[in-house]
Amino acid sequence: MASAPRRPLVAGNWKMNGLSGSAAELARIIAGTHDLTAVDLVVCPPATLLAQFAAAARGSAVRIGGQDCHAEPAGAFTGDISAEMLKDAGASAVIVGHSERRSGHGETDADVRAKVLAARRAGLLAIVCIGESRADRKAGQALAVVGAQLDGSLPDGASAADLIVAYEPLWAIGSGLTPTPDDVAEMHGLIRQRLAARFGTAGQGMRILYGGSVKPSNAAELMHVADVDGALVGGASLKAGELLSIAGVYRQPPVHSD
Ligand code: PEP
Repeated sequence: MASAPRRPLVAGNWKMNGLSGSAAELARIIAGTHDLTAVDLVVCPPATLLAQFAAAARGSAVRIGGQDCHAEPAGAFTGDISAEMLKDAGASAVIVGHSERRSGHGETDADVRAKVLAARRAGLLAIVCIGESRADRKAGQALAVVGAQLDGSLPDGASAADLIVAYEPLWAIGSGLTPTPDDVAEMHGLIRQRLAARFGTAGQGMRILYGGSVKPSNAAELMHVADVDGALVGGASLKAGELLSIAGVYRQPPVHSD
């Protein structure tokens, strides 16, 4: 059975940036979405802004996401936030397994898999990050490392409606460096093959985002690579104009009637 065409998605990861005054930036993003009808747009602010942003984005084309969640729905986990709490605050998506969580908080593939299950339980779209280090790539291990992360981080029964993969080479995040389009094509092709082998038609339909130093100047080149279904954007997503310009790669040409 042929899978449905994949609708592109651009997600902005604000990381630990933003105060209540940043609502003005979100308002600019929302105001710029009127002709972005062919792409899904998600903004992931810090947890402190989630409810405020979700309320502001209600009824717009912008969806709001969290940056992480705990695997448990509730309990004695000081400082953590559950998927259910994100949902309750108005989020419809959550990033899990970002490299800054994996390296800064020791999260393993098994931890990430548990968080993906938590997202599913709460009805959130999980954006699952995987990516190799500079040393892995230099050692010719990039494909093996990313393949293993993919296998270990995704739970059985995942569907295109509840899961997105984000390939983010660690050395490209925040560095201004990006892989070549050929390297991106090779990696996304491998990810697609593994998703299809494991999940069948669902795997064909899952979106695979590229992330790592995406900006307006390189977005078109990266987004037009085969099996790249959008972008996870860090630094550039903090500016409405830059995020909209990246998403604008997917702007449909105007239809002229004669
Ligand atoms: C990220 O951290 O997910 C990311 C892609 O960051 P940047 O775009 O700043 O490289």
